Amino acid sequence: MGIMKPKAIAIDGPAGSGKSTVAREVAKALQWKHIDTGAMYRAVTYLVLKNNIDLNNIDLISSLVNNARMEISNDPNRGNEIFINGENVTKAIREPLVTKNVSSVSSIEGVRLALVSLQRILAAKDNVVMEGRDIGSVVLPEADYKFYITASSSERALRRSKDLEKMGFKIELDELQREIEARDHMDSTRAVNPLKIPVDATVIDCTAITAKEVVNLIVNKVMEESA
Ligand code: C5P
Repeated sequence: MGIMKPKAIAIDGPAGSGKSTVAREVAKALQWKHIDTGAMYRAVTYLVLKNNIDLNNIDLISSLVNNARMEISNDPNRGNEIFINGENVTKAIREPLVTKNVSSVSSIEGVRLALVSLQRILAAKDNVVMEGRDIGSVVLPEADYKFYITASSSERALRRSKDLEKMGFKIELDELQREIEARDHMDSTRAVNPLKIPVDATVIDCTAITAKEVVNLIVNKVMEESA
């Protein structure tokens, strides 16, 4: 019996499109690992802010990420948890200050090189549902399935505000929409691995359909093809 290459679903899309919910539920249904690469960029941003490092100090940030230890756990009962240098930062990486600064940190080439290589190692070990901005285009160009999930920026702001409210943060809707649009702009215009629709991806607009419908669509497609 030969060794089977693990399978991968790449899910990309802009901030707040609903891709995290979709990726989590698809992974649960298929019993594959859910890898949230946004959480990895957020964890590095948290570390940069915690150490009061100037965001323009590219060399220091690159060496920080190369020397950092990052662990991701996928315990189905506890949900995904992320640790950097031993510290559980699962909650802290969702704070508005991290969100505000993550796009500048993620535009640094040294940060991307380190995280992309870690992401490829994770995908070589298990069947994964990996979500982010450059998964189908750069991290896993050979992924078995590629989806690009999007929604209007006002709908995305609305969803983000509900998520943040559950976590105890209250931010004005128009401020959230402006922030989401600014992050989209930075993520899609940066020089290294910008957010873009992979040529061979299926584009799903989530503005008017629920996450559950998108999950069913993806799971059915994977089941049909592996039957
Ligand atoms: O998905 P989430 O909104 O948590 O991602 C946070 C940020 O991390 C994005 O705005 C983007 O700057 C960065 N990111 C990235 N590449 C990825 C995933 C996230 O640059 N694959």
